[in-house]
Amino acid sequence: MKIGIIGAGPAGISCAYQLAQKNIEVDLYEADSVVGGMAKTIELWNQKVDLGPHRFFSSDPRVNQLWLDVIGDDYEMVNRLTRIYYKNKFFYYPLKPFDVLSKLSYLGILKGILSYGKEKLFPTEQDGTFETWVIKRFGQYLFDCFFKTYTEKLWGISCAELDADFAAQRIKKLSMYEAVKTSLVGNRNHKHRTLLDQFAYPKHGTGEIYYKMAECIQKNKGRIFLSTPVLKVIKKGNTAVAIETIDSRIKFYDHIVSTMPISDVVGGFSDVPPEVSEATKTLRYRNTILVYLRVKQALYFPDNWLYIHSPDLLMGRLTNFKNWVPAICNGQSDTILALEYWCFDSDSLWTMDDDKLIHMANLEMEKTGLLGNGKISDGYVRRIHRSYPVYYKGYKSRLKKIEDYLDTIKNLTLIGRNGTFKYNNQDHSILMGILAAENIAAGKAHNLWDINTDYEYQEKYAVTETGFKTQRDCNNT
Ligand SMILES: Cc1cc2nc3c(=O)[nH]c(=O)nc-3n(C[C@H](O)[C@H](O)[C@H](O)COP(=O)(O)OP(=O)(O)OC[C@H]3O[C@@H](n4cnc5c(N)ncnc54)[C@H](O)[C@@H]3O)c2cc1C
Repeated sequence: MKIGIIGAGPAGISCAYQLAQKNIEVDLYEADSVVGGMAKTIELWNQKVDLGPHRFFSSDPRVNQLWLDVIGDDYEMVNRLTRIYYKNKFFYYPLKPFDVLSKLSYLGILKGILSYGKEKLFPTEQDGTFETWVIKRFGQYLFDCFFKTYTEKLWGISCAELDADFAAQRIKKLSMYEAVKTSLVGNRNHKHRTLLDQFAYPKHGTGEIYYKMAECIQKNKGRIFLSTPVLKVIKKGNTAVAIETIDSRIKFYDHIVSTMPISDVVGGFSDVPPEVSEATKTLRYRNTILVYLRVKQALYFPDNWLYIHSPDLLMGRLTNFKNWVPAICNGQSDTILALEYWCFDSDSLWTMDDDKLIHMANLEMEKTGLLGNGKISDGYVRRIHRSYPVYYKGYKSRLKKIEDYLDTIKNLTLIGRNGTFKYNNQDHSILMGILAAENIAAGKAHNLWDINTDYEYQEKYAVTETGFKTQRDCNNT
């Protein structure tokens, strides 16, 4: 068998890695000049940084096993501290009720309690949106303070237009009751992923995993074509047969795995039913602009990253790479920060000059007061096109039409964040890669559209300092 794989991000490269280990012939095409996709690590000012914060976590034993097989001992456990920065104060995230109470004004506390009480007595009717989902669990006041601004910065649409799926996948069972219980008795059962306070991180950055996978693929005679964008998948009737690269080269395969955006795959076919074509045109993606700032001397805010909820700041998240693992800082005393901005293609921010973006980021950092005596000496901009699939209310039924259509095409598998239009973390994309490889190599029939982005919250397995442990093992140590 000869397999063509499009995209060397976590999904595509994990699939190629698994297939190459079984001595199946694989060709991996990557548009960029390096592997890793959005989870790559780059060299900057003599240090290593990720594209924004990249914490690996999975509750799936297959994903953890693969991650450990690849990284070996070359990782460290990092204590997670990620707080919300709101109106010059820091609030723990996930929210801790006593922390919130101690930092809100008396009026704020009263409003919080009253609006939460109102939800208990007269719950807000659920209309499938993020807004009503959160209000029902936390009340209007806490929603306004701690969910609305950040969520709308990230997605660029009102919380009343955002599908509740986003909440279900990211903050699932977290409720006021759980938060109070956790504050009082701790999180001994590690029930919710969002409440975890440690994660495993490769010593040389998150992308190290994918660089190591690339080496193994090549050792196993797999071929990786970097800087080789794929134009389209070619099909004959209802069977995918070949890949055409941007320079018009065509290569035939027995099976094609694609992680390029689902809309580009469908857009490359000439005989798509009109309703599928229409549905495809409704899919929207959000972009990320990362502005890295080099600060002379170390900055002592201790978070791995901060969620910036303050409405007067445009940035949405602020990463401090000093607080990850020492090796990525390479003995340098400077601190590298990454400020994240989100926008659509049509927003002026997306095409703003790098210098202007850096200037804006400088001003925003000064406004936070987090710089102390630190002086910004340099800036660097990195744009990630289509970094987030936007879960507009009702997107699921439109996506389903596209999935059903793609299921009629033989020898074609779509996986990955943009490949399936799912808000995947690395672990979901790795799992998709593993299962796609099993379908191809072992004739399994995993339904890859169904890889449930909820599964991470079930929290059964985790990578710990001493390797791979089940939840029971974790509780016993
Ligand atoms: C700012 C930010 C922070 C994040 N934080 C975390 C985190 O803390 N933890 C976590 O687990 N995940 C995090 N993620 C998500 C993580 O980056 C993704 O889940 C993961 O990278 C998805 O892998 P993928 O292979 O599905 O897609 P991608 O990483 O997007 O890889 C797809 C690859 O396909 C290539 N490609 C696309 N089109 C073509 C084409 N036509 N021809 C050839 N190649 C093509 C792309 O260049 C890319 O390399 C974060 C993402 C962002 C943007």
